[in-house]
Amino acid sequence: MAERHVPGDRLSAFLDDELGDEDALRAARHVADCERCLGELAALRATRDALRALPSLQAPVLTAGVQARSRQLARVARRAKLIVAACCVPVLIGAGAYVLGGDVGEVEPATELFLVEHLGRTGGGPVPTAVGGGGR
Ligand SMILES: [Zn+2]
Repeated sequence: MAERHVPGDRLSAFLDDELGDEDALRAARHVADCERCLGELAALRATRDALRALPSLQAPVLTAGVQARSRQLARVARRAKLIVAACCVPVLIGAGAYVLGGDVGEVEPATELFLVEHLGRTGGGPVPTAVGGGGR
């Protein structure tokens, strides 16, 4: 027996038929002549078979209370997202309008229009000095 022993991971791969043909043949030849590797392979096989014989586990079923709490938390999260969105939309619209609006230049107050409307409503009543520039 000139070859080294087959490492555990290679024995496991051999057991699961995951080795290539050449490696599998080499492992099979070694195991056939080596008590130690044969024993390790038998132990691996027994472990694998024992694991496969275990009953499958089922995920735990959530109780009604936990399910209700989970739904409640999901509703709160949805509301929070809506509130954040509702707050962001006006800000974004304002920012967009500011960016797209550009500079409108100097804004002149409609003083003449005010004076005409004032005279029409008051029949020539006094105009405040701040608006009329000296009054009448
Ligand atoms: Zn060996």
